[in-house]
Amino acid sequence: MAKHQFQTEVTQLLDLMIHSLYSNKEIFLRELVSNASDAMDKLHFLTLTDDKYKALKYEPKIKIELNKERKTLSISDTGIGMNEEDLIENLGTIAKSGTKSFLSQLSGDKKKDSQLIGQFGVGFYSAFMVADKIEVLSKKAGEEQAWKWSSEATGDYEIKKAKKADFGTKITLHVKDDESEFLEFYKIEEIIKKYSNHIPFGIYMDKEETIPSEKEGDEPKKEIKEVQVNKASALWTLNKSDIKDEEYKDFYKQISHDSSDPFLWVHTRAEGTLEYKTLFYIPSTPPMDLYRVDYQPGVKLYVKRVFITDDEKELLPTYLRFVRGIIDAEDLPLNISREILQQNRILESIKRASVKKILGELKKLNKKDKDRYLEFYKNFGKVLKEGLYGDFENKDTLLELVMFKSSKRDGLVSLKEYKEGMKEDQKSIYYITGENEALLKNSPLIEQFKAKDIEVLLLDEEVDAIVIPMVHEYDKTPIKPVNNSDIDEEIKDEEKVSDEEKQEMTEVIVKMKEILKDEIKDVKISSRLSDSPSVLVYDKNDPDFQMQEMLKQMGQDNLPKVKPILEINPKHEIFKKIVEKKEFSSLQDISLLLLDQAKLAEGMKIDDVAEFSKRLNKYIAKAL
Ligand code: ADP
Repeated sequence: MAKHQFQTEVTQLLDLMIHSLYSNKEIFLRELVSNASDAMDKLHFLTLTDDKYKALKYEPKIKIELNKERKTLSISDTGIGMNEEDLIENLGTIAKSGTKSFLSQLSGDKKKDSQLIGQFGVGFYSAFMVADKIEVLSKKAGEEQAWKWSSEATGDYEIKKAKKADFGTKITLHVKDDESEFLEFYKIEEIIKKYSNHIPFGIYMDKEETIPSEKEGDEPKKEIKEVQVNKASALWTLNKSDIKDEEYKDFYKQISHDSSDPFLWVHTRAEGTLEYKTLFYIPSTPPMDLYRVDYQPGVKLYVKRVFITDDEKELLPTYLRFVRGIIDAEDLPLNISREILQQNRILESIKRASVKKILGELKKLNKKDKDRYLEFYKNFGKVLKEGLYGDFENKDTLLELVMFKSSKRDGLVSLKEYKEGMKEDQKSIYYITGENEALLKNSPLIEQFKAKDIEVLLLDEEVDAIVIPMVHEYDKTPIKPVNNSDIDEEIKDEEKVSDEEKQEMTEVIVKMKEILKDEIKDVKISSRLSDSPSVLVYDKNDPDFQMQEMLKQMGQDNLPKVKPILEINPKHEIFKKIVEKKEFSSLQDISLLLLDQAKLAEGMKIDDVAEFSKRLNKYIAKAL
């Protein structure tokens, strides 16, 4: 017999379970059934594909037994089972990044934490909500020795050698005194029907039945009969018309471990050259690991109802990683290896069709019910945008689905809405990128747009800076950044800067270019500015500041230095006075001040803050 300590995270989770922040205790059964079902899926797959397991019998069955005297509830399966190492690994530690990040988000505030946990699958450990002691008796398929794991959730657990006739797992819960409803047949039957009706395996229970006596006067006989309490029909194989909404929702909870209802689902049956069934769900809250590289994929692959894998990220593109569900293909070999899986033509076709289907459904929703679409978009819009980066096939659909903040309206606008609001002579769709909405709204770069009442999209999400420059156009209208040197031509106000003014500025520009030559490519007269004296823009072939930052973050360190162009506003008081007084001696300081200001307005850092302050203070003092 050996005692083991739980990993800290497990103790943390157990503590949470026992103090029962979770209002919905009955879900423990769904979690245990789900584990049993997975264990049988795994064994089935091995018996079909691995010579070592081919001789083993695969007789899937889940049995739940209740014992009121001993106050126990047990659940047995005929699945893959666990050996000593598996028990330590699976029931003593938490490997899943989602669970870990969930735990790290806990605040200690009971109310907040209980809301958090309500959106989160809690797995095996949830059984400690209703049990004060749990025993797991298990024998791994193909092995001789059985093992017994037991714990009272006090920080440690025990593992010892044990005897068990068949492989598989039997989990026994010693039900807490005040949770005795979980020892009632009807209660358990109800919970199973609610959450686990459509797992593909039968769940059996012993039911006491009263048999009327044949002879009059005799006592009726009581007999124990084993009954199947769930339907055990893989939900996705049924006809849509035979499935109730509630059943779809419960099935979602079963496969996703999410306790909230799904946001929407799409159920498809394809027949013809390619036969398959898919059932996809979009969650109503973002999964915890949505932005983690090691996220857990949400789609399970089946072949002819045989479970193949739930750990294959390639089943859907990464920008749809929030989708949960099932793909069940008819024409794939069962023993398909992972490498082949990824290049498989059939799977590739299913994937393509599935993406179209899911995006199509979102498009429909967007048309039909804008508010509900926004609800979806709030959760997953950012992830969806990633699709513009690699999915050229669906680019047009994605462009219909993505939304942006705007300089002219509150909330989000689609590109379609933007186009509808374009000025008659407006040539392009304009956008500005940066980190902060407020900064973007007040950027000197869009002064002229505001003056002309032209809408500018405010792209303040990191993903925008990567994907939007790759899009180029929407519905034949070019999409351009406002800091592109080209734009000046498009929105120029002919009357704005006179030839005379330009003439007057010639000398100033020559001098400024000389002063700033190490930092900038050029100094130009701007017609896009109204209030500000200067602004930085980029040559149309150069990456702008945001893009450069992104590239650096993506590990491209040795980028050539890109120099911006400084545009100046000859109508600004500063330049008016310089020209009027022909006072060029202060130009050295002023040029540097204007450059630093322009950098700040763009969200860049300035190189020498001390120098900047010194210069600024000198001019403040002068002005007083
Ligand atoms: P999850 O099922 O979400 O991975 P759990 O905490 O419920 O998390 O279970 C942890 C692991 O323990 C499972 O991934 C599985 O490997 C193993 N496990 C749990 N129950 C069983 C079972 N009945 N048979 C075989 N393995 C099991």
